[in-house]
Amino acid sequence: MKNVHKPVIVVHGGAGAWHPERQDLGLAGVKDAARAGFKTLSRGDSALDAVEAAVVQMEDNEVFNAGRGSALSIDKRIEMEASIMDGRTLDAGAVGLLTDIRNPVRLARIILEQTDHVFVVARGAEKLADLFHLERRDPFTKLRVQHWNALKEKLAQEKLDYLPKLQKLVTSESRPFDPGTVGAVALDQNGDVAAATSTGGFSLKLPGRIGDSPLIGCGTYADNEAGACSATGIGEIAIRLVLAKCVCDSIHEGKPPQEAAERAIKRVNRRMGGGFMGLIAVDMLGGIGVAHNSPNLCWAYMTAKMRHPEASLEARIIREQS
Ligand code: ASP
Repeated sequence: MKNVHKPVIVVHGGAGAWHPERQDLGLAGVKDAARAGFKTLSRGDSALDAVEAAVVQMEDNEVFNAGRGSALSIDKRIEMEASIMDGRTLDAGAVGLLTDIRNPVRLARIILEQTDHVFVVARGAEKLADLFHLERRDPFTKLRVQHWNALKEKLAQEKLDYLPKLQKLVTSESRPFDPGTVGAVALDQNGDVAAATSTGGFSLKLPGRIGDSPLIGCGTYADNEAGACSATGIGEIAIRLVLAKCVCDSIHEGKPPQEAAERAIKRVNRRMGGGFMGLIAVDMLGGIGVAHNSPNLCWAYMTAKMRHPEASLEARIIREQS
């Protein structure tokens, strides 16, 4: 029997190109989130509690593109989405098209625990939020509005070859893609795993567009028979490759989480010709995997052997296709 290193938490604050001015804030933010999640795990609470606590922390931090500070759609609105999954039972909850719920991940957890459904969006989800007295908060920030204005200008000048060629756009021009989606995976003291992801999507997205973050298997997956994974990057890619489940399937086949994450990024490179993606994963032994093909991935982790979380803007950058 191999040694199990638990508890463990890994969090991300988004793939993409982190602007130098915001890098320190991003690193401090993921550390705070890892600390919040690890504190929950140290008390003996579940991995589900820990990923929720970590994601709430980042939704409340406006440096990230989730909760307050979410990116704006083409019609200058905010539509937030989130999901959470419990590896013990495969129970999952997801929400989308939220305009002002302070912590979308909390609502995702309510869907998981209090309803017979997995995914509830828009007005129905907001009604449920009211029923459970969830707080509302204006998610707009000055920075996101400035960014939106600059992109809109580019679009008007036809300098932004936008959504139909999303992949090309992101490869040739990193600015439109705001990094900052948040996610967490954890293994708790009982040996259970969970995952959660939350986002505002990306700038200039079409109204009603839903990405990978709330889609179980695409942006988020957790299964006690394998491990847990949260994805960030171009949602349309993660959806088509069912990326988070792909990583968990590789772990289930016996691959260490690092290899599983790297394999999945190679698949993105091979099948999608690139396109920014980042992945964090944990397995049932407490091993972690972090890989990306984007210039940065803002992430942090903490284990029982560490007094403080460690954070970085890079992990294993995978350019290969196989
Ligand atoms: N995956 C998110 C989306 O496509 C964006 C991100 O991770 O930054 O909505």
